Amino acid sequence: MVAKIQAPVQKNEIIDVVFEDLTHDGQAVAKIEGYPLFVAGALPGEKGSIQATKLNKGYGFGRLIELKETSPFRQEPECPIYSQCGGCQLQHLSYEGQLQAKEKQVRDVMERIGKLEDVTIHPVLGANDPWRYRNKAQVPVGEENGGLVAGFYQKRSHSIINMEQCLIQHEKSDEVIQKVRAICDRYGIKAYDEAKHKGTLRHIMARYGKITGEVMVVLVTRTEDFPNKKKIIEEITEQIDGVTSIIQSINSKKTNVILGDTTKVLWGNEVIYDYIGDIKFAISARSFYQVNPEQTKVLYDKALEYANLTGEEQVIDAYCGIGTISLFLAQKAKKVYGVEIVPEAIEDANRNAELNGITNVEFAVGEAETVIPDWYKQGITADVLVVDPPRKGCDETLLQTIIDMKPKKVVYVSCNPATLARDLRVLEDGGYKTVEIQPVDMFPMTTHCESVAWLELV
Ligand code: SAH
Repeated sequence: MVAKIQAPVQKNEIIDVVFEDLTHDGQAVAKIEGYPLFVAGALPGEKGSIQATKLNKGYGFGRLIELKETSPFRQEPECPIYSQCGGCQLQHLSYEGQLQAKEKQVRDVMERIGKLEDVTIHPVLGANDPWRYRNKAQVPVGEENGGLVAGFYQKRSHSIINMEQCLIQHEKSDEVIQKVRAICDRYGIKAYDEAKHKGTLRHIMARYGKITGEVMVVLVTRTEDFPNKKKIIEEITEQIDGVTSIIQSINSKKTNVILGDTTKVLWGNEVIYDYIGDIKFAISARSFYQVNPEQTKVLYDKALEYANLTGEEQVIDAYCGIGTISLFLAQKAKKVYGVEIVPEAIEDANRNAELNGITNVEFAVGEAETVIPDWYKQGITADVLVVDPPRKGCDETLLQTIIDMKPKKVVYVSCNPATLARDLRVLEDGGYKTVEIQPVDMFPMTTHCESVAWLELV
C-alpha cells in the first residue's frame, strides 16, 4: 500500500486504532487510510486509542492512551527500569512473540528491499536463556548529588541514571560496574561533564570471559592522569574476583564514540581469554567480540554448515574481527585469508591462530573493500567467501569484487536485515542465488536481529 502524503488526522486528535506491525526499533504501527502512525508501547494485533502527536508527510507519531484489546504475547517487563532505559525494546513481548516478530522483520525486508522470491527463510533460532546473556557492559558515568553514578542515559536525554543491575547483562558485569564506580567515587574521581568538556571518568567497561571467568575492566578517561591511580587499581584487584586485566582508554575528544585512540595497560594482561566451542580467543579492549557467546556458537555452526567445506577450499573471511569465523573455518579449509580494519583486532587474530595451533590462516589489516580487490589483482581468490560487516552492510566495491571474483559460495553473516536484503539484491543481480537465510537471536529483549545467508553462484 502506498502511504498517503497528508495525514488523515489532526494533531492532538484522539482516535481508535488497530496495531498491525512492529518497526525495527520496537514501535507499533497503526495505519489510518494507509497513513502510518508509530506508537511506542503497543504490539501487533492489539487495539487501543492513541493521540496523534506529530504528523509528517507520509508518516506520523502517536502516544498510546489506552489499550482496549491486548495481544496474547504481551507480558509484564521483568526489568523495573525498562520504560526509562531504552536499552531493551521488547520486554513487553513474550520471547516467543519476539522470535516471531524478528522472523517477520526478515521476511518483510527480503520481499520489500531484496525483492527475493523463493528463498527459504527459517524460523529464528532462539536462545535457551534469553536473560543475562551479554558478556560486555559499557556504561556512561555521571554525577548526582556530588557522587558518581554509572548506568544509562535516560531516553531522549543526556542525564545518566544509576543502574544496579541490567537483566540482559551477566551478573558479573553488574558487580564490576558498581564496584568500580564506588571505588572511583571514594577516591574522588570526577565524572566527565559533556557540556563543559571537563572531569575525568567517561565510561566504565567490563568484559567477561564466561567460560574462563576472566574479567577485563576498562576505565575510559578524558585525561591520562587521574588522582589515586595506584590505589584505585589495587582496590579493583582486591575487590573483584577474576580480574586479569585493567585497561585505561584515553579519550580526550568531544565525541559520543566511547573508546579513545590511546590504550594503556594499567595492570595485568592486555587481553582476556574466552572460548567459543573448542577455540580459545584472546580479546583486547578495542576488538569486536560477539556479546552473546552461546548464540555465537549457534551462528558460526550455521555459517560453517553453509560453507560446506571439504578441506580443499581457499576461503576469504571479510570483516574478520579477531579471527573468530576464520579460525572456525580454517579447521575444515585448505587456507583462510581474513581482513579487518582495526589493527588491534588483527593482532588478536594472529595471537588466536597461534594459541590454537592453526597455521593455515593469514590476516591483513585494512578495509575489506580495498584489500580484497588488491588480493584479487594479485591472484588471491576464494572458493568460499564469508562476509560479516557492521550494520551499514558491505561496501559496493566489495560486492562488485565478489561478483568479478566469482567464489562458488558466499556466506553472508549480518546484524542488520535491511542492509542484508539490499546487498543480497546486488549479489543476485551479479549472478548469485540466495538459497537459505537463517536468523539467529543473538540479542533477546532487543529488536536487533542477526542472520546468516547462503548464496550459490548460478
Ligand atoms: N566476524 C567477526 C567480526 C564481525 S563485526 C566476528 O564474528 O566476531 C564487524 C567487524 O568489521 C568489526 O570487527 C569491525 O571492526 C570491522 N570493520 C568495519 N568496517 C570495516 C571495513 N571497511 N573493512 C574491514 N573491516 C571492517
